[in-house]
Amino acid sequence: MKQCLIFFTFFLSALASAASVQEQMAQNPAVKAAIEELVIANHILYDQNAVDGYGHISVRNPSNPNTFFLARSIAPSVVTVDDIMEFDMDGKALHGDTRVAYGERYIHSGILKNRPDLNSVIHGHAPPILPYGLTGTTLKPVYHMSSFLGEGAPIFEIRNVAKPNPDTDMFISSVDLGNALSQSLGLQYFVLMRGHGYAAGADSIRKAVFRAVYAIQNASIQGEAMKMGQVQYLTPGEAAIAQETIEKTIGRPWQLWSERVKKP
Ligand SMILES: [Zn+2]
Repeated sequence: MKQCLIFFTFFLSALASAASVQEQMAQNPAVKAAIEELVIANHILYDQNAVDGYGHISVRNPSNPNTFFLARSIAPSVVTVDDIMEFDMDGKALHGDTRVAYGERYIHSGILKNRPDLNSVIHGHAPPILPYGLTGTTLKPVYHMSSFLGEGAPIFEIRNVAKPNPDTDMFISSVDLGNALSQSLGLQYFVLMRGHGYAAGADSIRKAVFRAVYAIQNASIQGEAMKMGQVQYLTPGEAAIAQETIEKTIGRPWQLWSERVKKP
């Protein structure tokens, strides 16, 4: 009986990976909901200045933990359901989809492969984030909204891992670089990329969007506070307690942000 069940589960996941993104949406309400939310998240991230013409967000396939959905190479603000592609955990496009993919899809495959607790990853180049990576200043939680930053965001240094030449185009353009970025992230939810941008992760699309938006706000506030004097950061204890409280309420900003990007 158990063997039958294992075979049936294997059969179902094989069936899921054989079906195109459109077929999976038609067959599986969870996949349809995830992809529709991914499209809204793309628009919100642009509206909230977390991405611009560049930047992207992914979601793990709810019916297959070994694949994820991500738009083809296109500006986030114009992404539609038809632009969504499916990838494996090496960043390879599935279903023979030959459309041009984001060159930095390895950010998503690297983090989603190494962090089974995360289901959504965001990458962007928001200007308020950049000075921290440039100067080696730790981005730390200055208020409850960004308490998920914990004891401070790690900084990924591509020069330390790029082979054979430490000089690169700064892009996370390979499986190895995606893995190295994921190692820098460690068990945290936000990583800075020196001279480039950030990556944020969460167990849901909504929480990943929340974290990207508030990490960027934290960067602006922390920068202003540092000009004024000694900054009082949240203690690790405050951060842990505040994170538990605030992340129960993320539906509220999501409602506000999604209303703003609704098409007439
Ligand atoms: Zn980038």
